[in-house]
Amino acid sequence: MMEKFILDEERLKSVEENYKRIRDNVKECAVKAGRDENEVRLMCVTKTVEPVYINKALELGADLIGENRVQEYLGKRDELNLQGVERHLIGHLQTNKVKQIVGEVDMIESVSSLKLAKEIAKVSTAKGIVTDCLVEVNIGKEESKSGIYIEELNETLYQISEMEGIKVKGLMTIPPICEKDSEIRRYFALLAQSFIDIKDKKIDNIDMQILSMGMSGDYEAAIAEGSNIVRVGTAIFGARKYF
Ligand SMILES: *Cc1c(COP(=O)(O)O)cnc(C)c1O
Repeated sequence: MMEKFILDEERLKSVEENYKRIRDNVKECAVKAGRDENEVRLMCVTKTVEPVYINKALELGADLIGENRVQEYLGKRDELNLQGVERHLIGHLQTNKVKQIVGEVDMIESVSSLKLAKEIAKVSTAKGIVTDCLVEVNIGKEESKSGIYIEELNETLYQISEMEGIKVKGLMTIPPICEKDSEIRRYFALLAQSFIDIKDKKIDNIDMQILSMGMSGDYEAAIAEGSNIVRVGTAIFGARKYF
């Protein structure tokens, strides 16, 4: 059963404050890292968040949202004010859901296997489109996480580069939970170096532009290491409630 929706005015106010604070802080972090203040994009991660709160962030100028689940996104997008807003899928994607999402978002950031890439390529080709993607790297080699190991990245990219209907635009990662800032920075730095190395190789059909890393708890460290999309949910919308 759907719970009756009651607007929480306090939450709406805190979304506004949080969004503005983080937006400004992202710019500051970029400058601190010796980069242009507009080089790092702030993605609002909207999983489990009701449309009214998402629309508040959009009204304040947010221009990039990330959703985790295909069904959830398709179910609530009609209530979102998405003109001029880029939509990325960032959650684990099963091959049997690819048909539903290809063509409905601007980018799939969670391409975590060759099999998934093949399916996206196939469905996109059938629809006559090219789907922009990021390859998800399991930087900490955690069994609980999906993604490609960094040692397999080159080979995976070469194989995807041969496929029609899919275009790799960069890399995405979720690092392991670390106690020390220095530890997490090491993971971010590792992926950033790999990003630069691949960019230098200039592989056909691979356009290394986006390095998507950093979430609510670690986006500052990610920016310091070269991220250009940070994906922030909790710090903007508050703790998630799962139904
Ligand atoms: C949920 C999620 C985020 C945002 O996490 P927060 O800690 O709430 O900022 C970022 N990236 C991915 C892939 C996620 O699933």
